[in-house]
Amino acid sequence: MLYVNGQWIESQSKQTFSVYNPANGEEIEQVADGNKEDVKAAIQAAKEAFRSWSRFTAYERSQYLYRAYELMIERKEELARLMTIEQGKPLKAARNEVQYAADFLQWYAEEAKRVYGETIPAPRRDQRFMVLRQPIGVVGAITPWNYPVSMITRKVAPAIAAGCTIVLKPAEQTPLCAREVFKVFADAKIPEGVVNLISTSNPAEIGTELIENPDVKKITFTGSTEVGKRIAEQAARHVKRVSMELGGHAPFIVYGDADPVHAAKGVALVKFLNTGQACISPNRIFVHRSIAEEFTSTLISRVKKLKAGNGLDDGISIGPLVDAAAVDKVDQQVRDAVAKGACAEAGGERLTGEGLDKGTYYAPTILSGVTKDMKIYREETFGPVAPIILFDSEEEVMEMANDTNYGLAAYVYTKDLSKAMNALEQLNFGIVGINDINPTAAAAPFGGMNESGLGREGGKEGIHEYLETKLAGFSI
Ligand code: NAD
Repeated sequence: MLYVNGQWIESQSKQTFSVYNPANGEEIEQVADGNKEDVKAAIQAAKEAFRSWSRFTAYERSQYLYRAYELMIERKEELARLMTIEQGKPLKAARNEVQYAADFLQWYAEEAKRVYGETIPAPRRDQRFMVLRQPIGVVGAITPWNYPVSMITRKVAPAIAAGCTIVLKPAEQTPLCAREVFKVFADAKIPEGVVNLISTSNPAEIGTELIENPDVKKITFTGSTEVGKRIAEQAARHVKRVSMELGGHAPFIVYGDADPVHAAKGVALVKFLNTGQACISPNRIFVHRSIAEEFTSTLISRVKKLKAGNGLDDGISIGPLVDAAAVDKVDQQVRDAVAKGACAEAGGERLTGEGLDKGTYYAPTILSGVTKDMKIYREETFGPVAPIILFDSEEEVMEMANDTNYGLAAYVYTKDLSKAMNALEQLNFGIVGINDINPTAAAAPFGGMNESGLGREGGKEGIHEYLETKLAGFSI
């Protein structure tokens, strides 16, 4: 069903499309296939709702967000189970994601009340300046499948906290999670038209209307750099505001003074999270030559213990990849690397056999001997492959780490404060984890440099993406 103007409705075309479980290839359900007419109606509803919602006090808007937070926490288990069935990640990781998603509702319930303006000293004696921050208007949001609940609240919570209204298009692989999140909004009694959901199997049709409709004042997108560029180009023709959370190619740097066992455990945890389908997943693991042996053998023993399977089963840490195309892409990168001289120290193949045959599984893989001429050195993998590259000097590793068009996350392991500080200052990445594999939280600004994006989500920065600055000059 689509959620438009506070109503659950079918698509005007009455068309539906199938959603599949990647663990076994079975159809889960048919969902409404929204089209251009549906999204136009949603934009119109959001435009009408903006008139009143933008005039609610911040305290009033905050109360709706608190209520949504509480409902999401109450429904954590059912949301997490649905996420595992629809997206594939193991249940424990799905529960963590629901908590992360709810955190944005709570954080922006609080930030709604902190949208401060300014007064500025004026050059004339009879003049006064005041700066207002006002909601931008109707927002068009497009979200990916890999974090199908939290990527929604990371946009909706700050947008509606700021006083904007929103029309959201979720990824075609995960519309059921989106529907359950919008049920939370509906049950929190967020007024009609403030939040609207259009699921579709035709993202370009809906995306184009969101970008070209003059009533939509801002586009916020999370997804691949390729699609993000296309959307930014289209939006530029209308001088439409955009925020972009795009792909990544994170370096994970392990200096010679670091504890190689501790660092290898860190890589084993962060690299295989969500089966490698994360924008902040390490994609190049730079290890100082002096500790490479101990690091690699620890990583191999850890990775060999990872169990693949249906995320609803106990003890599973590797779920399926989202679809067959994702398995092909990972396999091609691995084959290309091996053909050019890399060695598969673990994995390196699709996973088949009992319980895995009907799903889209790839073995957790470690590649050693990775070099610059391999595809994996430059292309985002979005799968469970850990490519190891050796280095000798600090200078060399900084150069290699920054040798990418991306700039989202980077990780550094060292006990040496000077090395850590040098790396922090030199790395051209929006997020740097220093001996920390999870440098994210609702309260912290998340986003990338270079082709990894524009703008930030989360933190106090996140709400500013949905505000315009207005200057008032008074002559008194
Ligand atoms: P994708 O770009 O294929 O799809 C993302 C969204 O864009 C989906 O909703 C999709 O339906 C929509 N879309 C696709 N073509 C479109 C078009 N022509 N017009 C409008 N919308 C269109 O990416 P994906 O494979 O779903 O997601 C994985 C990517 O997302 C990875 O590159 C990952 O790094 C990135 N990602 C980034 C962040 C971040 O915060 N930086 C977070 C999660 C994922």
